[in-house]
Amino acid sequence: MKSFFNKDENVGREMHELITTLFPICRSITGNGVRETLKKIQTHIPIQINEVQSQTKVFDWTIPKEWNIQDAYVIDPNGKKIIDFKNSNLHVVSYSIPIHKKIELSELKPHIHTLPEMPDTIPYLTSYYNEDWGFCMSHNEFKKLQDGEYEIMIDSTLENGSLTYGEFLKKGEVEDEVLLTCYICHPSMCNDNLSGTALITFLAKHLENIKTKLSYRFLFIPETIGAITWLSKNEQNLHKIKHGLVATCLGDSGSSTYKKTRDGNNEIDRVAEYVLENSKQDYSIVDFFPSGSDERQFSSPKFNLPIGSLVRTLYGKFPEYHTSEDNLNFVKEEHLGDTFFKYSQIIYIIENNVKYLNLNPKCEPQLGKRGLYRQLGSQKISDQIELAMFWILNQSDGENSLLDISIKSKLDFSTIKQVADKLVDHNLLKII
Ligand code: ZN
Repeated sequence: MKSFFNKDENVGREMHELITTLFPICRSITGNGVRETLKKIQTHIPIQINEVQSQTKVFDWTIPKEWNIQDAYVIDPNGKKIIDFKNSNLHVVSYSIPIHKKIELSELKPHIHTLPEMPDTIPYLTSYYNEDWGFCMSHNEFKKLQDGEYEIMIDSTLENGSLTYGEFLKKGEVEDEVLLTCYICHPSMCNDNLSGTALITFLAKHLENIKTKLSYRFLFIPETIGAITWLSKNEQNLHKIKHGLVATCLGDSGSSTYKKTRDGNNEIDRVAEYVLENSKQDYSIVDFFPSGSDERQFSSPKFNLPIGSLVRTLYGKFPEYHTSEDNLNFVKEEHLGDTFFKYSQIIYIIENNVKYLNLNPKCEPQLGKRGLYRQLGSQKISDQIELAMFWILNQSDGENSLLDISIKSKLDFSTIKQVADKLVDHNLLKII
């Protein structure tokens, strides 16, 4: 556990490499892009790949038909290919139905989507539950279109198949679980989507071979419909989830943001706030709100799971969000590595945040005779270890956890934890 907790200088680079590998794949909420993504993740961790058939009822929703796409383009009246799916998979509205015909510009225009306020970028759009077709392009290119006949072609399929998701359980000493989730349904975008996928992959990879107290469940699901599907198939096991985080938007240069759980007073809320406060960096904490990512489903009133979300800049709050600008240059190794470190610190604390009972509660125990105290009396107490001993012994009345003691004493959690271990070894404390 200790080595995982230490800052890993390589993980940001490794995450960026995985993002680079996954970037070109055209993902959606179903289809071969999801399967290909999950197979690449399997080269890092042994995730189980699950398929749930189209038309399966999941609570109030129905799993849609499976969508796959081979190619798409638009050719202008001069024979020039002005939109080419092979250059960017954002050019096609996700879930576009197949089409191949020649139409006038006036007929084509309503099917072309642009972002006039960011005229050089391609927007990202979907039409999952409304059978339609469309193209996305930069507004500057759109303005150049001239009247005439255009050839449009979308070589896609939309038919019964299945929804695909990945899951990996790392068992701990107890069945209590930490749920760590990301979504795998966006095409070529890095911060929104792939940064979460990379972070969850490498957290799982680091935790896989470490002895942990808690069990860790990692989900790689299509956003919304995947979370609903997973919840509907696992309703009877949800009581095991004691903490959780939704991972997305983790590699931009913005400061960290923690979005609280629905109740706002779960242990994960205190731990995340503690880690951000002790990072000595700027950060923000926001209350739960019912839009956003999969915390919307995990926090629905019947489930109300203790799941927060630690991101950098919140989705929708950075201009590159859902555009071709959310690319490989937008996410940086150093930010990915920094976020990974914060997640690993959160895990270290929830693994070790237990309550102890002082076994010698009538006055202070004589530490000197146990070799736990400095030899010279009256010496100025500057030693963090001695201070930590006093704090832990005084506060271990069965009510205060190590995190409580760390917050009150302003002593680092890992110092408090190491000193508590020492006091247990000397039979002065026991875990309750
Ligand atoms: Zn998104």
